[in-house]
Amino acid sequence: MSDLPAVRRIVVVGGGTAGWMAALALTTSLPGTVVELVESEEIGIVGVGEATFPSIRHYNRLMGIDEAEFLRATHGTYKLGIEFRDWRQLGQHYFHTFGDFGQLSGPYALWGQHGRLGAEAPGDFGEQCLPTVMAMKGRFSLPDAGRGGFNYAYHFDATLYAAYLRKLALARGARRSEGRVVEVTRRPDGGVHGVRLADGRELAGDLFIDCSGFGSLLLGQALGEPYVDFSRWLPMDRAWACPCERGEGGRAPPAPYTRATALEGGWAWRIPLQQRTGHGHVFASRYIDEERARRQLLAQLDGKPLAEPRLLRFTTGHRARFWVGNVVALGLASGFLEPLESTSIFLIQSGLARLMELLKSGAPLDQDAVAGYNTGAVRQFARIRDFIVLHYCLTGRRDSALWRDMASMALPDTLAYRLHAWREAGALLVYDEEGFDATSWLAIHAGMGHWPRQADPVLQEWPRGEALAVLRRRRDAIAAMVARMPAHADFLAGTLAGT
Ligand code: FAD
Repeated sequence: MSDLPAVRRIVVVGGGTAGWMAALALTTSLPGTVVELVESEEIGIVGVGEATFPSIRHYNRLMGIDEAEFLRATHGTYKLGIEFRDWRQLGQHYFHTFGDFGQLSGPYALWGQHGRLGAEAPGDFGEQCLPTVMAMKGRFSLPDAGRGGFNYAYHFDATLYAAYLRKLALARGARRSEGRVVEVTRRPDGGVHGVRLADGRELAGDLFIDCSGFGSLLLGQALGEPYVDFSRWLPMDRAWACPCERGEGGRAPPAPYTRATALEGGWAWRIPLQQRTGHGHVFASRYIDEERARRQLLAQLDGKPLAEPRLLRFTTGHRARFWVGNVVALGLASGFLEPLESTSIFLIQSGLARLMELLKSGAPLDQDAVAGYNTGAVRQFARIRDFIVLHYCLTGRRDSALWRDMASMALPDTLAYRLHAWREAGALLVYDEEGFDATSWLAIHAGMGHWPRQADPVLQEWPRGEALAVLRRRRDAIAAMVARMPAHADFLAGTLAGT
């Protein structure tokens, strides 16, 4: 296929989170380009995807979205990170929040000094991170210069988010067609000409964004792009999802973090929204059957279920290429890593950002640009896969077949190398476009009790007494700051009320 013709008309297939995020961004940033989205009410959207990553704030900002309006429209809450329960050992828990632990290398690295001090160290290492302590105490305040830097994200109702984006995109000029796509028509050069709907209409375009969900109508089905299967490292392939009443008969305040509890054959999520809690159990069918997994989910619920649990099936991995000819896939149509670190919406966003960069430049889209896009997307999926596998492979659990296998699996080379660098030299290797920075890697290593084999001699350069004093001062300052912050529920109520 030669260079792509100028892009004047873009057809987005699918109106879930991916489709409407794309339609809104394209309409907002490319005036003069026709953006038409087709979706099917009858098929509906996957409707899960309620915990996010801090990058979503960047998307919202670029789209000119007001935080309070957005939280009201989506029944959202603030998210400081994730609490991992029972991942290292039964009964043990730790947080991965979007904060920092001070300097990460050299003599002043707090993790190194904390380890060097051993039993003398003041408190748990997590107490050195502001948002971790905020999460532990259920407090929230926006970051500012005085309070130290940290990042945050949101929990929201995925169905309401798609509806909210739809309203904005339509108001900015996107077009919407309702109907079921029954055929993908092709151009003589192999590209896609249009999509035909059940009522006979055909929507033609220069560029197609496949946001059709797990079905991957264009990239997977019409173009036959093969799937790269990650299940030998990430064997989760099913999930039960179930909304329920908040704890204490609906009176329990929403926590400002997601909880991920490791179970016998998978893990359960708990996502607190304003009016309800989202629960789910992600599991590997080769380790636990559906009915047992369903019962384990029901045993985890905060309160009364508000619907019957719904079963979803998937295979972790991605399409070999994300962009082929004039079709770019975003969201579930392009691939899926399990939702442990809430990365799917982040991946939609970063694919969209790379695409927008090319489209906004106005330069013809040649095959080099397409190849560059694909290389970046493949690398990003592999790096995030490695970060997710990190949570499993460091487990000390041996109480079920899943955990025994996760502890002994052959790791991807890229992850094995990073683990080696950390274990042997205390080096936190981080690459571009990964999403997770060195602090995130450190939070998982620390939470899983995985430390370098030998203390770095450079740590001795800081007198022990001084290191102890700094760690104590930082822990106490963080505790004092958090004690002055409002409870998350009160802060949220203020935001929603516009005060
Ligand atoms: P969908 O929401 O499935 O949308 C597909 C769209 O295509 C729909 O509008 C549908 O009607 C349309 N469509 C399909 N076929 C046709 C057709 N023939 N004709 C016309 N229209 C059609 N992500 C996170 O970021 N955080 C999370 O916490 C999280 N948790 C998850 C938990 C689970 C169990 C799963 C499975 C996913 C989770 N995700 C999460 C991923 C997240 O749900 C998706 O990335 C997000 O919802 C985007 O979905 P989508 O828009 O790609 O697909």
